Amino acid sequence: MTNKEIKISFEEYSKIDDLNSVDKALCLEAIKALDNSHSPYSKFKVGAALRLQSGKIIYGSNQENVAYPSGLCAERVALFHWGANYPNDPIISMAVTAHTNDFQILAPITPCGSCLQVLAEYEKSQAKTIEVLLYCQNGAIWKTTGIQNFLPFLFFEERLK
Ligand SMILES: [Zn+2]
Repeated sequence: MTNKEIKISFEEYSKIDDLNSVDKALCLEAIKALDNSHSPYSKFKVGAALRLQSGKIIYGSNQENVAYPSGLCAERVALFHWGANYPNDPIISMAVTAHTNDFQILAPITPCGSCLQVLAEYEKSQAKTIEVLLYCQNGAIWKTTGIQNFLPFLFFEERLK
């Protein structure tokens, strides 16, 4: 038996003003994305904003449905919109934030495994690492470059062979 460890790496910023201006701007775009969240069941709004190489911003927000599994996370709403419309304009970074009136969110909201897996595949297909900013409006911001830091055990196409 061998014990193995995986080291991940990310940066933590205590407030939005500590970010560089480009990252700060993208976090503010993620707040805008909250406006179109359709979350009548959880009342938990999530907003995502992608910054593309051209400078274009793609928005996504969580879209719930009364048939619960039919809904989709904010991150994948944005990512699939990118894949369907702008696949040749690489994703440079993604910011994610959340809001609810029910309680104060005190830590960054992390994407679910499915969203990380989708991010990882697009990161690989565009051959360019993606920065991820997880922005808690009442707390810290976590930033990482490369999805592998948030999902070390990615499922890759090579595993199918
Ligand atoms: Zn998700």
